[in-house]
Amino acid sequence: MSEASQHFDVAVVGGGPAGLAAAMAVADTGACVALIAPRPGVDDWRTTALLGGSVAFLERHGVWADLEGIAAPLRNMRLVDASSRLFRAPDVTFEAREIGRELFGYNVANGPLVAALSDAVAARADRIVRFEALFQTLDQRGDVALLGLSSGETVAASLVIAADGRNSGVRKAAGIDVKSWSYPQEALVLALSHSEPHRDTSVEFHTEAGPFTLVPHGRGRSSLVWMDRPEVIARANGLDDAALALEIERRSGSALGVMTVDSPRQRWPISGFQARRLASGRVVLVGEAAHGFPPIGAQGFNLTLRDVERVEDIVRSAMHLSGSKRLDGEKAARDYDKARRFDVSGRVAGVDLLNRSLLSDVLPMQIARATGLMLARDLGPVRRLLMRVGLAGR
Ligand SMILES: Cc1cc2nc3c(=O)[nH]c(=O)nc-3n(C[C@H](O)[C@H](O)[C@H](O)COP(=O)(O)OP(=O)(O)OC[C@H]3O[C@@H](n4cnc5c(N)ncnc54)[C@H](O)[C@@H]3O)c2cc1C
Repeated sequence: MSEASQHFDVAVVGGGPAGLAAAMAVADTGACVALIAPRPGVDDWRTTALLGGSVAFLERHGVWADLEGIAAPLRNMRLVDASSRLFRAPDVTFEAREIGRELFGYNVANGPLVAALSDAVAARADRIVRFEALFQTLDQRGDVALLGLSSGETVAASLVIAADGRNSGVRKAAGIDVKSWSYPQEALVLALSHSEPHRDTSVEFHTEAGPFTLVPHGRGRSSLVWMDRPEVIARANGLDDAALALEIERRSGSALGVMTVDSPRQRWPISGFQARRLASGRVVLVGEAAHGFPPIGAQGFNLTLRDVERVEDIVRSAMHLSGSKRLDGEKAARDYDKARRFDVSGRVAGVDLLNRSLLSDVLPMQIARATGLMLARDLGPVRRLLMRVGLAGR
């Protein structure tokens, strides 16, 4: 150790949305937290649809007030089969009021979301110490975990929350393998303004190469996540703004009228992966350190917030049980692994199946998909069940 280590109840590694949310939530249990997070270097032009209990989580921790004014309500979700296949699915519209809710949730830009979470972390400076350094090494041999940082400092913690994204160094250091797979897809992300109102409705156009999704993003504005073959995304990205807007209007059947691209564009790789375990020793994995899948049905960050809520509950009970002693990080990690396995595996498999059902040329798969959506269109109970599953049973 190059410098004397400082002891914390919990160390959180990563300053993306998952790490910031985890540091804030765990600090609210009374735990003393080290957040190991360099300042973010890249602007993120994506938006996140906050569904199910995600808004309640942000409200409970006092973050929602900063976002409410800029969040776009999501009242309806429409699925349109825009493929040219033999068995095409019918259009289906899911309405939140059918399951007794005013809204499914809200769409928020990632920039303000991360800024609001960063402010919440800064407001808890009495319980969160931020180290603006990279995690480098992990030693789990003693009765605490020791984390070596790029600054030369060492942090000692009873429990480590790895929130350092898809290439998680903490996950590797903890000896947790991942199962990963690829898709012949990439995503183009941008924001647009349009001449027709979106009526708080997100629309997913399903094509043979993946979904093309427009999500409300303020009055007369939507965000686009266009998943397609990498060469199609490269071609689209090569167009100037006016030509790209026309292409998007064409692909969306002019559903939102005349469009104008009004943000920078970003390309994102699309892949799937899942950690084979969600914990090892004193380490637990949250967010993209644990799972990643294509942006379909807005599941990624909502699943992450469920990881965070569960780790928060577990730390709260562990703090209560430990009294004035150190909390039992190994037990907390075991409890977390057990508690999160089912939800994480179910979501990863479900989104994978949805994506593959679009890409597959196999006739029985197309028939099954079309039949499922026909049932959803015609039968209220099926439609309502799908909506509840999409909101994670809340
Ligand atoms: C195109 C697209 C659209 C999406 N849309 C939605 C949506 O509508 N709804 C939804 O719920 N989800 C959505 N998602 C998923 C969501 O964006 C991700 O789940 C979320 O961004 C992952 O956050 P994270 O904090 O886990 O990872 P990241 O954002 O990758 O953060 C990881 C952090 O760890 C830091 N880090 C890395 N290594 C180290 C180290 N050694 N030491 C310290 N720090 C380190 C990095 O600097 C980074 O800040 C979408 C994803 C994509 C690709």
